[in-house]
Amino acid sequence: MSLRARRLLITAGPTHEPIDAVRYLANRSSGRLGLALAAAAREAGWDVTLLLGPVATAPPAGVTTQRFESTADLAARLEACFPECDVLIMAAAVADYRPRPVARGKLPREGAEVRLELEPTPDLVAACAARKRPGQRLIGFALEEAAELEVRAAEKLRRKGLDAIVANPLETMGAADIRAVVLTAGGERLIPAEGRPLDKAAFARWLIAWLGGWLGPAAP
Ligand code: C5P
Repeated sequence: MSLRARRLLITAGPTHEPIDAVRYLANRSSGRLGLALAAAAREAGWDVTLLLGPVATAPPAGVTTQRFESTADLAARLEACFPECDVLIMAAAVADYRPRPVARGKLPREGAEVRLELEPTPDLVAACAARKRPGQRLIGFALEEAAELEVRAAEKLRRKGLDAIVANPLETMGAADIRAVVLTAGGERLIPAEGRPLDKAAFARWLIAWLGGWLGPAAP
């Protein structure tokens, strides 16, 4: 009997939230960690679908990739892809707010003060958690100030209905290295490399290997 490959759905990169036809709000996510995770899962023989935001880096070979721009765009792709995966790793840095309404055409430059009205974006990973099948696992990320890191990550793990969360300090953003703590809904607390910083590719291999063991044998 052959076992089918595990199916990973992974999101990476920032979202761009349109202000008008040419301008947007965004954050500084490079997408590097998500791309490293997609590559590590592929190397480990997983079947990987990557939802990749607006970043310059090319996706890894052998990974099915769909591009997104805004939160609304990512929400539509998740809606379609989530039912087909065994694990969702939500590494995308989804904007927390977006301009509402989006101006038609290009706002003229008039010199006067402009005020943007922002609405909260829907919590995409929480929406996936609310409709997950038995056996599906959801992993989220929490990027927080070091002093508040684990308290805030634990609160997000619970509030969003995740199975595990990767907590990492703000310094991870755009850096080559990561020093992370993984918290699980079952109360585990894992510290890769005994707390030493790992480059993102090494951390990605560690996380995928841990996930493989955590999930147990793949289904036929
Ligand atoms: O609440 P916060 O943005 O810190 O949560 C981070 C986690 O939640 C990440 O896994 C991110 O991809 C996800 N998220 C989401 N939808 C949002 C905001 C964050 O799925 N609107």
